[in-house]
Amino acid sequence: MNYRYLGQTGLQISELSLGSWVTVGNQVDLDATASIMAAAYDAGVNFFDNAEVYAAGKSEEIMGAAFKRLGWRRGSYLVSTKLYWGLHQNPNEQNTLNRKYLIEGIDGSLRRLGLDYVDILYCHRADPNTPVGETVWAMHNIIERGKALYWGTSEWEAADILGAIDFAERHHLHKPVVEQPVYNLFEQHRFDSAYDPVYKNLGYGSTTWSPLASGLLTGKYNSGIPADSRGAMENMGWLQEQLTDKARLRKVAELQPLAREIGASLAQFSLAWCLQNPHVSSVLTGASRVGQLEENLTALNFIDKFTPDLMAAVDRIFHTK
Ligand code: NDP
Repeated sequence: MNYRYLGQTGLQISELSLGSWVTVGNQVDLDATASIMAAAYDAGVNFFDNAEVYAAGKSEEIMGAAFKRLGWRRGSYLVSTKLYWGLHQNPNEQNTLNRKYLIEGIDGSLRRLGLDYVDILYCHRADPNTPVGETVWAMHNIIERGKALYWGTSEWEAADILGAIDFAERHHLHKPVVEQPVYNLFEQHRFDSAYDPVYKNLGYGSTTWSPLASGLLTGKYNSGIPADSRGAMENMGWLQEQLTDKARLRKVAELQPLAREIGASLAQFSLAWCLQNPHVSSVLTGASRVGQLEENLTALNFIDKFTPDLMAAVDRIFHTK
């Protein structure tokens, strides 16, 4: 495993990391979760991502039980969670980054995870209705109370990130240090030029999500939706349009010979491509079984195979340049 610094912080994070969205608490139980996490940790993965809203809190509970079962030394791994959507149908506790929700929300997450602190606490979305200063103060206080070590944003517009950093700097508060954006061959907009001040000028870190576009970039949806896949899950119906989109599937087919040329599977190719971006600190992967994780971790063997010619060939397929 290789490690990168999380933006401008002194924290080193594994290039590939493991998240729990959809899988933990829906597709996999505690035994399977613990096996997948153990395989990741043994391979050098040091970052495990979660969110309050995943499986309505069950994902944090199961990951917390897995940490307890696996008995790893707390200093040896990083955990994150994310707050925004909330677990309770109450005006102050859903779709918000107000002070009351954040201060109470972190306590709920820590209780479910069975931890004293998370390493990174993300604001899962921006909240246009709460003044940014209120959110920055709440995140600062959470860090000062030792409940999180760093804080970040997820799917925030560049201007909102800059606004939060500016407020924190003017008031000498802990500022956000990392964004969690979608990033894969199909979705590259969170690194477009609007974000240059964030990544290039300020050295913000990023832990990127859905590197395989929910599995589409493995080629598994080429001839329909497999019965045992995310795409077949009842509550994931909204994803089916993307997973069966003919234009997208054509691009996946065009990618196949490029992957074959360097001896990689489509999954390994697509993950290694994400790591060509120097502003990516860690690529968050997802896996519903150990075999997938093992295949994905070997993506690291292909990072050096991406020549400028190969990158240009990829850009031609995805029309990104
Ligand atoms: P991916 O795009 O990599 O999709 C992962 C899924 O693809 C797996 O669960 C599995 O699904 C399938 N898959 C993975 N590897 C293989 C393989 N080698 N062969 C075949 N199928 C494979 O990532 P996720 O969408 O899961 O996102 C990763 C993490 O990012 C999440 O767990 C979460 O922590 C974070 N995230 C953050 C968001 C945010 O808003 N901040 C939003 C979404 C995710 P299956 O077996 O069911 O087909």
